[in-house]
Amino acid sequence: MPAEESTPAIVIRARDYSESDRIVTLLTHDFGKLSGIAKGAKASRRRFERKLEPFSQVILYFRRRPQGQLVFITRAERGENPPPEIEDDLAKIALGSYMLELADALTTEEGEAVEAYRVLANALDALGRGAATIALRQAYELRMLAAGGFGLEFASCRVCGTVAQAEDGVVYFVVSRGGIVCARCRANAPEGAVRLAAASAAALARLGSTSFGEATVLPHGGADGALAIARFLASIIDRKLRSVEFLDSLL
Ligand SMILES: [Zn+2]
Repeated sequence: MPAEESTPAIVIRARDYSESDRIVTLLTHDFGKLSGIAKGAKASRRRFERKLEPFSQVILYFRRRPQGQLVFITRAERGENPPPEIEDDLAKIALGSYMLELADALTTEEGEAVEAYRVLANALDALGRGAATIALRQAYELRMLAAGGFGLEFASCRVCGTVAQAEDGVVYFVVSRGGIVCARCRANAPEGAVRLAAASAAALARLGSTSFGEATVLPHGGADGALAIARFLASIIDRKLRSVEFLDSLL
């Protein structure tokens, strides 16, 4: 029998399977994203204690199977952090659900994802402590993208390196360049671009590099900034995220 392994993990998806089992997908600290089956999870409060729900932060114990993608989840203990307190706040539930779904979409099974794990854990913590704000959403999107190797540039022009100044008025976000170009370099970037107020770009640059605790109270990157991020996400994620529409209707 394969050895039992363990890692801190956050449940990002879970569903019942058969009479008593659950199939659970988790973002783990040590093994990237893992999906597994928890036999008897619906009955065994001793081994699982209802903890295999989305948002749960656990220490996961599992064994790999010789075949098949699903690991055997043997037990789940209480993790370092409690789940975020979001139950009574619709906007928090919507943003939290979106955070889980985006983490799922931007990671692959067993791909290294320790930074994505940290980003998700810290963002959920900030969500539990503070309010669901557009700034927190945008900070999370930018940091999760960076964790996946897609660091977007909003501070300076991708072509000439000029730092965008608020008085310059506008810059242009070019999806294929993963960042902004200045008005002068726009001629060299014939691809479709999202026109951004320089102030929006500056806000996004700040949100991408600050802690989530601070981000909740910073100015957000505006509707134009949101459009730039949404366009970039759509270019790398091949499905529509279910939680987006609900979130957009609330924030
Ligand atoms: Zn330029």
